[in-house]
Amino acid sequence: MAVIAVYPGSFDPITNGHIDLVERGAEIFDLIIVSVADNVDKEPLFTVKERAEMIREIFKGRENIQVDSFRGLLVDYLKKVKANVVLRGLRAVSDFDYEAQMALTNKKMYPPAETFFLMSGESYTYLSSSIVREIAMYGGHVEGMVPKLVENLLKDKYQKRRDR
Ligand code: ADP
Repeated sequence: MAVIAVYPGSFDPITNGHIDLVERGAEIFDLIIVSVADNVDKEPLFTVKERAEMIREIFKGRENIQVDSFRGLLVDYLKKVKANVVLRGLRAVSDFDYEAQMALTNKKMYPPAETFFLMSGESYTYLSSSIVREIAMYGGHVEGMVPKLVENLLKDKYQKRRDR
């Protein structure tokens, strides 16, 4: 049976750390669904549509990597796409508490759900979407942290904000 893994996240925006995780996950699982969480609590920089579009562009032509979005509980989404595996990344100890809470809560709500963690790639341990947003907001270079496409979209986004 094909094993489908859902990689949920805010991806605001997707970074090279996320991409590394997807690439490694795609070697292990038959299908990875990168799914952008439409989190109503957070005020995002990019809309869900913009985030999904850039991820789609990055993994264009990759047969076992799909891009989607979801709203509401992850466990409901897992049932909808018939996946029992959740892929998440661990950077440092600081990620652990939140990730353990999420994994255990999801399992409680939907026992077949298993969360698989991959350690972040060594060079991406200190990389996060929020750091990237902060650097880009002040006009700094985010080269090497995100793909060129994302770098350009960040420039456009902050330029538009400054022009407002
Ligand atoms: P969320 O808001 O759900 O935490 P993120 O987009 O920040 O969404 O992260 C999604 C997942 O990717 C999380 O499991 C997070 O720990 C992981 N992640 C974030 N940045 C990196 C990175 N640089 N390397 C590996 N995993 C990462």
